[in-house]
Amino acid sequence: MMKKWIWHNEGELSYITLPEWEKKGVKALFSTRKGGVSKGPFSSLNVGLHVGDEEVYVLENRRKILNLLGAKLDNVVCCEQVHGDRIAVIGKDHKGCGAFSLKTALPGYDAMITNVSDIFLMAFYADCYSIYFFDPVKYVVGLAHSGWKGTALRIACKTVDKMADVFKSNPSDIEVFIGPGIKECCFKISPELAKQMKQEFDDFDNIITDKEGSIYWDLTETNRRLLVEYGIKPENIVICDLCTLCNENKFFSYRRDNGITGRMAAVIGLKE
Ligand SMILES: [Zn+2]
Repeated sequence: MMKKWIWHNEGELSYITLPEWEKKGVKALFSTRKGGVSKGPFSSLNVGLHVGDEEVYVLENRRKILNLLGAKLDNVVCCEQVHGDRIAVIGKDHKGCGAFSLKTALPGYDAMITNVSDIFLMAFYADCYSIYFFDPVKYVVGLAHSGWKGTALRIACKTVDKMADVFKSNPSDIEVFIGPGIKECCFKISPELAKQMKQEFDDFDNIITDKEGSIYWDLTETNRRLLVEYGIKPENIVICDLCTLCNENKFFSYRRDNGITGRMAAVIGLKE
């Protein structure tokens, strides 16, 4: 069982890893904004090619992160991330898709799963949630992009479903890590969306709360409960409690930076 995540400072770089998974043959990390070469609003470790940053900086930043895992950009796979709920099954032929160019990212997908070693699933975040999956029995890993739309579409549960369908994973074996994201302290929503989501998640109490006339939605807890409802053991879910909006020196935040900002990366792969 996975116990916790760890914050690292290595030279200029700061990042999060999962030591319990490392021991079991999984390489995974979540990057921060620290230690890269990008300038201005993308300062400094932006890894998103779609945000208006210089491509040469982005690729160098991606390589810096992958170096920490001993991984190559040629072995990375990225999907388009459209706030949908489609899940791609990744094989050897996908190596390099989206790694060097937006044009080759797998179109229309927001999650990826694989049982092939030495392939690194990579996705990009600035407030949305990275949800990492590992089945230590069937040796399968997965990575989902879940913002509020993905949460409403239950992409986390659909990723578990796909692991079960394709690789015969048993949900009770699957371990999950939910990375940093915009937490309930900062994720203010409109009364209209609140009403809609209270209906969508009518069996969940206290995920949407009123504070001093504003309404806040706890996306982490919503995803956690969805996963538990879906058969993931509560003790197999590890949550990073860091808010991307509150921690300006650590993370990019789409909402805080009014849309002009960089992206952090989530990466996961099975060792060779
Ligand atoms: Zn916050």
